[in-house]
Amino acid sequence: MHLRPLLSALAAASVLLALSGCGVVNGVATGRAANPGDHLPVQNSSELGTDDGYIPVGTSVALTDDVPAVTNLDGHLRDALTSAAEAAAERGVEFTLVDGWRSARYQQYLFDQAVAQYGSAEEAARWVKRPDQSKHVLGEAVDIATADAMDWLNRFGGEFGLCQIYANEAWHFELAADDSGTCPPQLTDGSAA
Ligand SMILES: [Zn+2]
Repeated sequence: MHLRPLLSALAAASVLLALSGCGVVNGVATGRAANPGDHLPVQNSSELGTDDGYIPVGTSVALTDDVPAVTNLDGHLRDALTSAAEAAAERGVEFTLVDGWRSARYQQYLFDQAVAQYGSAEEAARWVKRPDQSKHVLGEAVDIATADAMDWLNRFGGEFGLCQIYANEAWHFELAADDSGTCPPQLTDGSAA
């Protein structure tokens, strides 16, 4: 009986379960379950609060909500999202967020959790950015909650400056379009930049 391979398999399975849980509870039909992106589930959130931009897993916030995750967003990004949301609403598409601004403390928490899960800082950095590299900490990125809103933004977001940045993160949008509304080519993942 070889214990180490068994333990490795169990560890891999628990990671997959954790990621699947994240995808399901956030109501995202595709993409999220297969990839942790920058939004790993918070296992023990007792030390994180609303002031950190923490949005409990399984919930989302509206652009009009008076919570730091929204109010600490960069003003240009928030204005662009609001304009896009108004246009999308005419098609019955509602924008809600599972992540917006995060405190550096929250981002560090996510990074530390990823190190524990992946076994090294190098591997963790492929999935979760360090606080000094995260656009969320700057208030310059949002993670969209629903698949129909992601789809709408992928088709029309450029008109409002909003772009999907990473090919493996269908939910993550930043202000990145040029003056003609064209988004830059997507990066493979968060480690590509
Ligand atoms: Zn994100």
